[in-house]
Formats: sequence, C-alpha cells, structure tokens
Amino acid sequence: MTKPTEEIVLNEEESLDTRRIAYHVREIIKLIGEDPNREGLRKTPERYEKALKFLTSGYLQNVDNILNGATFSVAYDEMVVVKDIEFFSMCEHHILPFFGRCHVAYLPNKRVIGLSKVARLVNMFARRLQIQERLTSQIAEAIQEKISPEGVGVIIEARHLCMQMRGVEKQCGQAVTSAMLGGFRHNKQTRDEFLALIRTKK
Ligand SMILES: [Zn+2]
Repeated sequence: MTKPTEEIVLNEEESLDTRRIAYHVREIIKLIGEDPNREGLRKTPERYEKALKFLTSGYLQNVDNILNGATFSVAYDEMVVVKDIEFFSMCEHHILPFFGRCHVAYLPNKRVIGLSKVARLVNMFARRLQIQERLTSQIAEAIQEKISPEGVGVIIEARHLCMQMRGVEKQCGQAVTSAMLGGFRHNKQTRDEFLALIRTKK
C-alpha cells in the first residue's frame, strides 16, 4: 500500500500537540494501516482521549476525598454487605477492559462508611490501570485502614476482554479473586455468612 507522506489535514491546532493523547492515537491509527482522515475516524483520536481520561480518572482521586468525612460512629456490629457493585476497569497488561461485579463486606468496629461511598471507592480503584488481584486487595485495605473494622471481605468476579477477544482461555468465563482480612480470614463462619449473602438472589 503506497500512501502519500504526511497528507495530514488537521483543523484543530491542538491535535498537533504531541503532549496530547489524541495525537498518539492518530499515530496508532496510521500504524495499523487505517486512514485517520476518513470521515468515521476523523474525530476518533479526540473521542478516545476523552474516554481514556474518564476510564483512568481514578488517578485524580484518593481514598480521603472519596470518603470525605462520610464515616460514621454507630452501635451496629453486624456484617455490612454491599453486593453486586458494577465496575469497569482496564488491565494493565493490555489496556483492555475487564469488568464485572464486586462484593464488599465488613464487620464494623464502632464505625461505618456511607453505603454509596463503598461503590465510589470501588470505582476509584477500578478507574486506573489494574490487575484484578490488586484491585481486590486495594479495596479491602482502604476500608481496613479508614474504619478499622473487625474484618473486611472483598470478592470480585470479572471478565477480561484481553483473554476473551484474543481467544485465550476461551473456556475461562470469569476470574474470581478475593481479599479476606481480619475476621473474614480467621473465622470460617464469618466468611461463609458473607458468601451466603452474596449468593442470595436479588
Ligand atoms: Zn490483560
């Protein structure tokens, strides 16, 4: 395939800025043999930049600004479970999506976290380049550190497009990872209660 060299027509000046993700996406489009100037692809670099910035926006957040004072003193000491938290992340080995559901439980020790904040915490860690194992343990450790519960359990069930789209391990439907701290690690009854609760159909 012969192509005229540098026949680039850019109407937006900033698209030429090599510091922008869009510039490099445009280069990648060329490297795979596509024409970045054809209609359907013309705005793709900017769109991709915007999408990628959203999908990695977890780097701009931290545990403290997510929780933002939303931990409360309570007398409640039964297990708190937030299940089926939907998340979308990107594997750091291929920068392709992996996604699924996350289940979080803890045994309060006088303090709890606002329920919606648990989901936001999951999403903050998910919106970074991740491996599923680290995502799982980071969620558990953040909760352990912030409210010092008697124990924390996190289970993630996910599908990885880097495996599924490339036909690797076709049979492997879902990957399941867990992080169990404190009572969830040492006490089988606690762990079983958590597992029973997340398996209950909605
Ligand atoms: Zn991967």
